[in-house]
Amino acid sequence: MQKRDYYEILGVSRDAVNEEIKKVYRKLALRYHPDKNPGNKEAEEKFKEAAEAYAVLRDKEKRQIYDQYGHEGLEGRGFRGFSGFDDIFSNFGDIFGDFFGFGNSSGARSRAREGRSLRYDLEFTLEDAFYGKEEEIVFERLETCMTCNGSGVTPGSEPQVCDTCQGRGQVIRSQGFFQISTTCPSCHGQGQVITDPCKDCRGGGKIRVERKINVKIPPGVETGSQLRLSGEGESGEHGGPRGDLFVVIHVKEHEFFTREGHDLICQIPISFVQAALGDTITIPVLGDELNYDLKIPRGTQPEDILKVPGKGMTGLRGQKRKGDLYIKVTVKIPQKINQHQRELLEEYAGSEGLTLSSEKKKKRKFLKRKGK
Ligand SMILES: [Zn+2]
Ligand SMILES: [Zn+2]
Repeated sequence: MQKRDYYEILGVSRDAVNEEIKKVYRKLALRYHPDKNPGNKEAEEKFKEAAEAYAVLRDKEKRQIYDQYGHEGLEGRGFRGFSGFDDIFSNFGDIFGDFFGFGNSSGARSRAREGRSLRYDLEFTLEDAFYGKEEEIVFERLETCMTCNGSGVTPGSEPQVCDTCQGRGQVIRSQGFFQISTTCPSCHGQGQVITDPCKDCRGGGKIRVERKINVKIPPGVETGSQLRLSGEGESGEHGGPRGDLFVVIHVKEHEFFTREGHDLICQIPISFVQAALGDTITIPVLGDELNYDLKIPRGTQPEDILKVPGKGMTGLRGQKRKGDLYIKVTVKIPQKINQHQRELLEEYAGSEGLTLSSEKKKKRKFLKRKGK
């Protein structure tokens, strides 16, 4: 992309003095500041463009090079503009400080920033997920220290301008022909150092505070469901808004039901007699009535699935629909039977025209004895 002329960007004449350039830039920076134009790409470009123009024209040496050789002249000297906002803010922190009233001095530190968002993992039983639940959660978050109002400085004293970088937050090293700008090692880019730190927060400006809140979890949640409590995260920087709190739900495994979306699935063992003759058995369900009379049809086969409509999970929020309950039937075959039961079963086998091998053996023994 063709770079625009720096004088044109700022709308000043080629012989404009520094004061004028600064004034014009302030106006542009205010208009296109990212805090005022969140998500606006065009404003972002304008903001960067103006910052770059200002960085060159306010600097006597760079301006001279630009006047003589244009953009190429600067590139030849290693100046490439800014890579992003952080770059701009760390360079112009001093200006933004008094532009926007974020504190009184310099550095990236003066920029309003949203607080960190937090995550809280909440374990739920399937019943909790079905009925919904109100739960008190306790967590720790960082809050602005009230003693120093977040400045980290003992009230009454002032942070000192960093000696190493003179408050710029950046130090410039010369490497041959190039000048390389790096974060100041003494103040870590803050532009100032705290010589008399606040006793309560030890200079950090924040303290860890326990917070209790009641969270209302609606019915129908599942593992991975997230509840966003806006403004319950950590305090912002320099008047920035608080972050959010995300409550993440984990639903524990249930001893009886497994869940598939809105549906519930369970397994129920019945005797082979119940499968053959049919029966009605009482099973546990979730809902207003805790038991349900399940009708097992005559001739039910192993692995048959019985469906109870509307006895699954509750739908989340707007969804009125409830899931269904599916019952997998397992048929138990008795492992031990007594003499009487054996006779009954053999009789039943006979009625089906079935001769069991145990019967055949008995018969053979009998015939042998007779033949002797
Ligand atoms: Zn403090
Ligand atoms: Zn420094």
